[in-house]
Amino acid sequence: MRISKNVASLKPSGIRKFFELIIGRDDVISLGVGEPDFPVPWRIREEIIYSLEKGITSYTSNYGLYELREKISEYYKKFGVNCGVDNIVVTTGVSEAIDIAIRSILNFGESILIPEPCYVSYSPLTILAGGIALSYPTNPDFIPYYEDMIKIAERAERDGRKIKAIIINYPNNPTGVSYTKNTLEEIADFAVEKDLIVISDEIYAELSYSFKHISIAALEGMFERTIILNGFSKAYAMTGLRVGYVIAPEDLINAMLKIHQYCMLCAPVISQVGAIEALRSEDELDEMREEYIRRRNYIVKKLRNVLDVRKPDGAFYIFPSIKNTGLSSEEFAKKLLFEKNVAVVPGNAFGESGEGYIRCAYAVNMDKLKEAVGRIVEFVENL
Ligand code: PLP
Repeated sequence: MRISKNVASLKPSGIRKFFELIIGRDDVISLGVGEPDFPVPWRIREEIIYSLEKGITSYTSNYGLYELREKISEYYKKFGVNCGVDNIVVTTGVSEAIDIAIRSILNFGESILIPEPCYVSYSPLTILAGGIALSYPTNPDFIPYYEDMIKIAERAERDGRKIKAIIINYPNNPTGVSYTKNTLEEIADFAVEKDLIVISDEIYAELSYSFKHISIAALEGMFERTIILNGFSKAYAMTGLRVGYVIAPEDLINAMLKIHQYCMLCAPVISQVGAIEALRSEDELDEMREEYIRRRNYIVKKLRNVLDVRKPDGAFYIFPSIKNTGLSSEEFAKKLLFEKNVAVVPGNAFGESGEGYIRCAYAVNMDKLKEAVGRIVEFVENL
């Protein structure tokens, strides 16, 4: 076979697969893709245009621009983390950050614990790194509890499996659930007890509504065993500019830097310049956050009339249960699309335990959201 067995074994992303169905259909309102509907703030675009005019188009240091790393180190203090410029590597989006974090720590056959439902790339990237994705369901409230994790780890140990790390993501895609200090302490206790690295995907940190985001690396003793992943795609609506970063202790940073320098070299320089400008002000963040909260409150209130909905703490997703409809996630999403022209993502795209749920992204303007939600309510009522 020409294709590597590892690659051949991967399923295509459940989100993309579903969205092939709506390409070119202007009549469909999409609550599908997790992409902010806001434009990149003008001051950031202006800085990028100006840098191009000045001919800033070269490679940067493999680490990323020094000024950007200085700004990131200053910025992360707000989430309780004190790190130096040398603890940061700028990446091509958080997507690359996830990849180099996993590849830098896994030996062949080692496992990563992945609480599900979760973002679509964690398992495939673990498999591509020659590892085992040890997924487990966190339903019904989508919180990783100490007792559950210990049970899974002990079972894995009995089976002779070595767990190297756990990946967490909060506020979470797809559930919108975030973790309180208590939950983070439980995860930290578990990581210490089992001597694990924590890969903490904090891409939605700025979109925290119910309580303030704290990085798990801020808890006592945790910086040394945590790889923080974050970036500019969601908070600053900079998805296509592809800029993110990893923050980690020196040995892990050096390991990730090795992979980054061979496979990516550096993140796009103009995007790094834009990211420096992004971190100069937080004005737009407050505005976007307010708008997302307004939309969240609206969609939760309306959908609760027909579905079981947990109020999300952050990000721009809700993950209602559709179990009362008797349909599977895919049946629900397909029927809704064909009958009402509204696109949502079937929950099983985020792992088996997402079955019985759908993900709706409220990253569309209020008019569209009202129309889409009205159609969903009508759809469920008529089932
Ligand atoms: N991590 C999570 C949890 C996400 O939801 C996404 C994008 O949807 C990413 C990472 C990828 O982000 P980026 O655009 O920075 O590659």
